[in-house]
Amino acid sequence: MMLKVFALECLLVVVVICKADIDAEDFLTSFGYLNRNAFNRVSVTDAIKDYQSFNNLQVTGVVDENTKAEMAKPRCGNPDRHGYNGYSKWTKTTLTYSFRNKCEDLSDVAVRQTIREAFKMWSDVTHLAFTETSGKGDITIGFHHNSHGDNSPFDGPGRVLAHAYFPPEGRLCFDEGERWVIKTTGTDLFEIAVHEIGHILGLEHSNIQGTIMYPSYSGYRPNLQLHQDDRRRIQQMYGVKTGTGTGTGTGTGTGTGTGTGSCSDKVTDCSKNLAYCRSPPQWHDYMKASCAKSCRFC
Ligand SMILES: [Zn+2]
Ligand SMILES: [Zn+2]
Repeated sequence: MMLKVFALECLLVVVVICKADIDAEDFLTSFGYLNRNAFNRVSVTDAIKDYQSFNNLQVTGVVDENTKAEMAKPRCGNPDRHGYNGYSKWTKTTLTYSFRNKCEDLSDVAVRQTIREAFKMWSDVTHLAFTETSGKGDITIGFHHNSHGDNSPFDGPGRVLAHAYFPPEGRLCFDEGERWVIKTTGTDLFEIAVHEIGHILGLEHSNIQGTIMYPSYSGYRPNLQLHQDDRRRIQQMYGVKTGTGTGTGTGTGTGTGTGTGSCSDKVTDCSKNLAYCRSPPQWHDYMKASCAKSCRFC
């Protein structure tokens, strides 16, 4: 009998350990540290080290308590690692946005006001301007439960709070499984919106704690401001806002390409797959090679 109980306990221990490993692998895969399909995939240990390094944890290569605690935090659904360099950006500075639906937790007026203020955080420091439109905007915003048509289903309460696609996709999704609040303790729509709009404009995650673009959410922050790093990165892409008059501007620029004029799509269905321009990582190389023009990689 004793032997039987002991054996059962061992089995439970093994199951628990395996489950923890599988969860960590799933997590690392979801957020770009581990790519099971990559030709030169890194080991799980190296992926854990990379995650620990990105999140300013002690780099041990094992999922210790601090690592588990960090992984358990609510966060953005976009990956931290993409497996490529460079970024995409909008080629115009006046952008429209529209709502695909309404939030179940908050009034329509409150949501629209909050989103307007979230856009203003970015337009205050750059030449960008945002206006809401009743038609389909360059940027579309929605609140969704679970699967919602973009191959990135939400997970209900906790963990992933929202995700957004890089230019020129313009799709921003909030997880309706969360209980959203505005500028108070809880899951603050304002802070999450400012973060997701950062992605919409082309910013990736930052590993500097305290930045808007840090991937995890540590709770409501009164008087939220862009971090110096957020400001520097967005101004690098879209220029520094100068003065309040109409001015003559400094030119809109034509991107960072080489200007050889050879930028083109190699396949005909790029427009249907813009969501894959930047993520998930396994699609990136294909999209870069096949849909360079549509994805604005050049
Ligand atoms: Zn994010
Ligand atoms: Zn979505």
